[in-house]
Amino acid sequence: MTESVNVDAIVASAPRDLYIDGSWCSASDGGHFAVCDPATGGVVSEVADATPEDARRALEAASYSSESWAGTAPRERAELLRRSFEMMQERARELAILTTCEMGKPLGESLGEVAYASEFLRWFSEEACRLDGRFTTAPDGRTRMLVMRRPVGPCLLITPWNFPLAMITRKIGPAVAAGCTVVVKPAEETPLTALALMRVFEDAGMPRGVINMVPTSSPGATIAPLLSDARLRKLSFTGSTAVGAQLLRESANRILRVSLELGGNAPFIVFDDADLDEAADGAMLAKMRNNGEACTAANRFYVHRKIYSQFLELLNTRMRTVRVGGGFEEGVQLGPLVNDETRQKVSGLVEDAVARGATCTTGGIAIDRPGYFFEPTVLVDVPIGARLLHEEIFGPVAAILPFDDDDEVIHRSNESDAGLAAYVYTSNLTRALYVSEQLEAGMVGLNTGLVSNPAAPFGGVKMSGLGREGGHEGIYEYVDTRYVAVA
Ligand code: NAP
Repeated sequence: MTESVNVDAIVASAPRDLYIDGSWCSASDGGHFAVCDPATGGVVSEVADATPEDARRALEAASYSSESWAGTAPRERAELLRRSFEMMQERARELAILTTCEMGKPLGESLGEVAYASEFLRWFSEEACRLDGRFTTAPDGRTRMLVMRRPVGPCLLITPWNFPLAMITRKIGPAVAAGCTVVVKPAEETPLTALALMRVFEDAGMPRGVINMVPTSSPGATIAPLLSDARLRKLSFTGSTAVGAQLLRESANRILRVSLELGGNAPFIVFDDADLDEAADGAMLAKMRNNGEACTAANRFYVHRKIYSQFLELLNTRMRTVRVGGGFEEGVQLGPLVNDETRQKVSGLVEDAVARGATCTTGGIAIDRPGYFFEPTVLVDVPIGARLLHEEIFGPVAAILPFDDDDEVIHRSNESDAGLAAYVYTSNLTRALYVSEQLEAGMVGLNTGLVSNPAAPFGGVKMSGLGREGGHEGIYEYVDTRYVAVA
């Protein structure tokens, strides 16, 4: 009850306007769009609905501030990011409540996201002062070569709803540290959390125009004029592979710098020498974290035939005891899917697998209560043609498949256009390193079900994306390399 009073008060006081040039403002046509609670399907709030004209104004502000921001001392940028990190920590509960309200994950996981998201600001506050360059003598000894880093300029950052804070700070942290100004287009499902983050930057003293935000219900129309505007120098997108590919094509017209963090289809491999309890715990983390809606989520579980039944039992036991409910309910481990469309997609993938001969050993259907809940589900005897082996499930559904030898499982794991994360459980070091090298993935979890870390380079290969976020690599996405020939 105390929590529900808190929730209403926090939602009521959350910013709902566009944030452009350091000011909160209405949409130019006065429009709004609704924000819904996936645990009930009800409307929780409304936010201003940016038009293409608003997006242009945001780019104008980012462009106007670009030169002065690029000229600030790295230490000044670092300290603003550090202050923003501290304020995120101070406001953790408020930010987490907004996330659970509009995205649905359990409150404990939302608090975890605030911690993870804020770390990108701390990490890049530290990286701001460490950007390297070099000075060398040319091979013939006659000239010198100076290599420096320059901010790319105004950036457009487009983010998804599944991690409504972290996907933004993972871009804003390096962009701002490098000296770039930004326009952020957050996801339509989660604008309240994103706008509350803008208030953090405002209160931390970020100069006007450096960070701008334009939530909108018509992303294509609102964003298109920016992609053809000569002032925009970079697009960083996180979201589905289909939209990422379309934006990559649109970005080609002006040869924009582009970073893409796209969908995954992670294999989770359990060898017969693995610690099976640890593997089952790791499987739960890799599958069920974030309501099963993580790009790094394990999609296909390959389990060595010798330990297949044992592992299946361990996983079924864990999946059957998952507590499902609204994100604010005590002890809840799995919240609702984000909207009805997502739930229908998950349902459709399970029905397709069952129609082709698969069996559900746990769950398998949508839960009959308000909101968009789906049962924790385990599938066996999944035939090769089942869609869920080839498409990202993005829900609490695990398909378990047996395998017989190392090369076979490597081959089957790599039979996907996606290449984001992969997981390997084995106690044999030689095998662990060999398999990690052979898997076509940007990230491998070795005896762990969690790969994300702000200090590590996050990103995919093949159709999972271009570029890296986080780690030392993340800031290079926001700088151009300039070479100066010195006589
Ligand atoms: P999405 O539909 O591609 O949307 C992502 C963002 O793009 C949203 O802000 C969306 O706005 C916007 N958008 C949609 N169409 C657009 C257009 N024509 N022009 C400009 N912007 C457009 O993806 P999602 O459903 O939100 O997110 C889930 C996907 O993201 C999954 O595939 C997941 O794997 C991927 N993801 C990848 C990573 C990674 O790091 N690799 C991390 C998280 C998620 P609206 O909200 O208004 O539709």
